[in-house]
Amino acid sequence: MAKLVWRVKLVAELRPGVTTETEVARIERDEQAGLAELGLQLAEAKQLTAALQAEIVPAQVAVLGERRRNCLACGRVLASKGHYGARFRSLFGDVPVRVRRLLVCPCQDVIEGGAKSFAALDFGGDGVAPELAYVTARYAALVPFGKVATLLSELLPIDGVQNTGTVRNRTLRVGQDIVRQHLSDNAEQPVMQAGGPVVVGLDGGYVRSRHRQDEQHFEVVAGKVIRADGAQHRFAFARNGQATASEAFQQALAAAGVHVDTPATVLCDGDAGLWRLQREALPDATIVLDWWHAAVRFEHALQLARGLGAGPADTHLADKAVRGLERAKWRLWHGRWAGCRRKLAALCRWTERKPLRDVAGIDRLQRHASELLGYLERNEDVLVHYAARRRCGEPISTAFVESVVNEIIAKRTNKKQQMRWNRAAVQPFLDVRTAVLNDTLEDAFRSRHPGFRPANDDHMATAAAA
Ligand SMILES: [Zn+2]
Repeated sequence: MAKLVWRVKLVAELRPGVTTETEVARIERDEQAGLAELGLQLAEAKQLTAALQAEIVPAQVAVLGERRRNCLACGRVLASKGHYGARFRSLFGDVPVRVRRLLVCPCQDVIEGGAKSFAALDFGGDGVAPELAYVTARYAALVPFGKVATLLSELLPIDGVQNTGTVRNRTLRVGQDIVRQHLSDNAEQPVMQAGGPVVVGLDGGYVRSRHRQDEQHFEVVAGKVIRADGAQHRFAFARNGQATASEAFQQALAAAGVHVDTPATVLCDGDAGLWRLQREALPDATIVLDWWHAAVRFEHALQLARGLGAGPADTHLADKAVRGLERAKWRLWHGRWAGCRRKLAALCRWTERKPLRDVAGIDRLQRHASELLGYLERNEDVLVHYAARRRCGEPISTAFVESVVNEIIAKRTNKKQQMRWNRAAVQPFLDVRTAVLNDTLEDAFRSRHPGFRPANDDHMATAAAA
């Protein structure tokens, strides 16, 4: 039976008018093709792109070596120090290259102990193409490392060991070298200043620790800044991680364009550590105890109150306790803290009365009610008139942060996947994840690697306007 054959040729024109042809692929089909044989198959596409990459990359590296032959300052021809072998690891395969080394020109002052030669192209240590690092990190923020490795090897002509460890290490490096650098650049020179009041929500979540002998879990603080223009900026850092939490929080705020004098409302649950972060970074902020956390505590106490006693004979006791709690909650909602405290204190005293000592459930109610009272007393400075704020459309709840905690911590690091984290090493992964959620990962790569994905509409528009 006759065959159909396509030969794919690469025509290179590295100097004007001078062309060379190389056959990079040959595709064959029987005339009697079935549906599965129509068009390119994945294996052929992988082989084709890898063959193109294997032609293009060495040619580019060779030209770079030639272009750098002359000193940029004085034009003198530089002495060659020979070549060294490197591997360029890309989305379209690993390509071995020979990179020219050149002696530093005598016209340049060589710093004592500094390098006397340089490479025509800096491979940045591991020679990983920015786009390979980008795609790896972007998906490693969403799904387990092993799945990323499988998916990339399935679709792309990626050589070598594409395993969980490779994906993990590359993501770690992206977090350390690219996202962190971008964050500190942004903190120094925010792209936009927050042009109006902002709302900052803070909350914590626990992740499982790798070092089980020291601790089972450690806490990650996650939060969100919502600006007047609606822009949202998520952040996350490990409590007592490498950088102190306070520095990490201030840097996260600065990256969102929020400074010490930006008018801000800070919402969080009654955690003393979180308030300390707020006082250091935004001392003049309006601070609000999250209504949601307070309401959940009331709800627990109410459930215990409803279940008080052993049956119909004790219904009046349950009713009395429920009434007391509901009145206390109503007063708290309407900004009447003194009344709320009186009601709760009265309820606590009532639960301690002798005749009630043997009522089923009374001690648990007693404990919950007094814990609730203590919680509110510790946070009495940040209790507000919730009903009035709500009427004015002002935020009273960190519900908008709960979702961030889930996005950043729960999805990736929580028990479902049984992942364990090292407190000292978790930050780069948190940084990558927040960059993906904030949609800033591509910008971070672009500022580190000029020319990274330049076909961006904004950039084209800027270039056209210039
Ligand atoms: Zn020179």
